[in-house]
Amino acid sequence: MIVPMGKVVPKIGAGDGISDKRGGPNRQTPGQGAAAGAVARHDATILIVDDELTNRKLLEALLVPEGYLTFSVASGEEALAAIAQRAPDLILLDVMMPGMDGYQVASTLKASHATASIPIIMLTAQHDRAARLAGLDAGAEEFLTKPVDRAELWLRVRNMLRLKALNDFFQTHNSILEQQVQARTAEVQRLGTANESLEYLSLHDGLTDLANRRLFDRYLADQTAIARRHQRPLALILYDVDSFKAYNDHYGHQAGDECLKQIAGALRSCCRRPGDMAARHGGEEFAMILPDTELNSAVQIGETARNAVMGLKIPHQHSLAAAYATISGGVAVLVRNRDMTVEQLTAAADGALYQAKHLGRNQMVCAQA
Ligand SMILES: [Mg+2]
Repeated sequence: MIVPMGKVVPKIGAGDGISDKRGGPNRQTPGQGAAAGAVARHDATILIVDDELTNRKLLEALLVPEGYLTFSVASGEEALAAIAQRAPDLILLDVMMPGMDGYQVASTLKASHATASIPIIMLTAQHDRAARLAGLDAGAEEFLTKPVDRAELWLRVRNMLRLKALNDFFQTHNSILEQQVQARTAEVQRLGTANESLEYLSLHDGLTDLANRRLFDRYLADQTAIARRHQRPLALILYDVDSFKAYNDHYGHQAGDECLKQIAGALRSCCRRPGDMAARHGGEEFAMILPDTELNSAVQIGETARNAVMGLKIPHQHSLAAAYATISGGVAVLVRNRDMTVEQLTAAADGALYQAKHLGRNQMVCAQA
């Protein structure tokens, strides 16, 4: 005897006006293992569509004892209505019916995304090639000729249900995988954004939002290497806020912070070319890295920055330089054809800054090349 695979343990009940039969004693447990797990279905249902009661009864009589849940309708229109309510796992579809015939039903079902994956076995009394081609063209997966051979029916039903179960299995797992991929992608993006903001915070000064010392050191090392390799000039300006300790002592640290923020803004506004960087070098010290900049241009930019800070007109009663907050600056340039290290360039700018302080503050001094 032929034993259908993917045996059915139906879950749905009758009572919707559609003839609904289920198998009893022959019901079997589905197969074991991963592949069988994919194939085994506990709720497979078969819709029988035939205009002749005798045919419907015959098919039910062959399928129900094998454990399949069947429900039957007598026309194509009823079939579409029944499927809209409850999609079966397989359809046994008579070709010749009054009203909508089997071809029309099949092509309607295959045209809809919701029902296209339901396998169809067409039942036809015709043996001719044209009828089979028309059935295939309409989307049927299989054929059975009337009168139906019992063994052939069971085999075709079993195979179709296996294919359907596999198809369902892959569709389900596909959508689970897609969901997992989407969730992972969102997580990676979230982490990426968090990383970006962490990296930004780690490289910028919290008070002024300028590049911090870490970013400054890294950028200066990179730009020095580039300038030496391409024999291009590189300017470094170190700034110091004049009499800043006196400012803090007199106006308080909160006012001191506000003063530094405003000065930082003025310095930033003077870095207009791509590659120019203003940084907080530490405390009340600032810096500018100006790639591809000759000494004259660097001095001009430094003077512009010094004037911009004076233009802020931040009152400073205890400054030794002016009535407002001011800055002093030391300019050093890495010149072509001269091997200067980052340390030497920094020391040169620092020496020039020291001189600017010594000469009375609120001025720019160039390091001697
Ligand atoms: Mg018929």
